[in-house]
Amino acid sequence: MPAAHAGRDPGPGTRDAQNQDWRRLWREAVTDPRELLALVGLQDLAENILPRLDTGFALRVPRSFVARMRAGDARDPLLLQVLPQAAELEAVPGFGLDAVGDLEARTARGVLHKYHGRALLVATGSCAVNCRYCFRRHFPYGEETAAANRWHEAIEHLRADTSIEEVILSGGDPLSLSTAKLAELTRALADVAHIRRLRIHTRLPIVLPERIDAEFTAWLRGLRWPVAIVLHANHANELDASVAAACALLREAGATLLNQSVLLRAINDSADALAALSKRLFDCGVLPYYLHQLDRVAGAAHFAVDDDAACALVDTLRVRLPGYLVPRLVREIAHEAHKVPL
Ligand SMILES: *Cc1c(COP(=O)(O)O)cnc(C)c1O
Ligand code: SF4
Repeated sequence: MPAAHAGRDPGPGTRDAQNQDWRRLWREAVTDPRELLALVGLQDLAENILPRLDTGFALRVPRSFVARMRAGDARDPLLLQVLPQAAELEAVPGFGLDAVGDLEARTARGVLHKYHGRALLVATGSCAVNCRYCFRRHFPYGEETAAANRWHEAIEHLRADTSIEEVILSGGDPLSLSTAKLAELTRALADVAHIRRLRIHTRLPIVLPERIDAEFTAWLRGLRWPVAIVLHANHANELDASVAAACALLREAGATLLNQSVLLRAINDSADALAALSKRLFDCGVLPYYLHQLDRVAGAAHFAVDDDAACALVDTLRVRLPGYLVPRLVREIAHEAHKVPL
């Protein structure tokens, strides 16, 4: 994500008056690190904690997510996912700008067609939250979003390639777009016989569950394909009652719910944290899908967990949990035909 974009996040469009609510909550997100620290009772630590130089990737976090952080705890696992840290400024060998080869995999504007049968649309560059470990901090989305230009190039590509069975909406966060904008795409694809499934990768039901409003669930219910929604939560504390309610709405609208997490040092790199996350996800009607080894992007090296430790954690989960609550530990490697299990 280019710094300029991250700094003046345009947020979603303003077309639907009826969606004022989640849009207002989006706009009211915390963007000032000092304010964030004050909200969690850590204002006295600001001088010690905050980086002295601009990290090039703005803080952004919805207030309801902040409310789930433990007050007075500088190691809170939700806080550490969003607070800029001095460690981001250290250059670490092996942590670069295009960690997963996305720049090469691009076919049409905003379409990444890397894996057989599945085309991923970089629907938008916007997110309601800026996660410090995310590759998005460097991805030059600018012109490259599929929703630009009324989805024209993406739609052309998806219609023309009959090997595509599954369309994956990703980003940024595709639910940053208005429901009307999403409907524009699904209307244009409704008569394409080779498309059999729709998948949506989103963190919005976790960080801003109000996004799952009546207009959105009506759209979801009306789709002609089975839909998988892959949520993105990294810690059980993210899944409060408001998130559970959003998950229930998505399930009532017919979606299959999965979750992907990123393994993050000092945030969820313990068997206790990962087991609690899996159990809490299941309480919310969500199955764990992937546990990702971090994409090796500059500025995120301090979150990395080494492969041996990661494998040992998942071995412990296999002992402690039913098989269906153990996520697949994977890494994204450029030029591989699938995500690579560790
Ligand atoms: C992760 C990813 C997919 C989906 O992979 P699954 O293993 O099916 O979840 C598809 N396309 C791209 C470019 C991806 O990065
Ligand atoms: S919501 Fe997802 S895409 Fe957006 S910053 Fe967080 S991890 Fe990255």
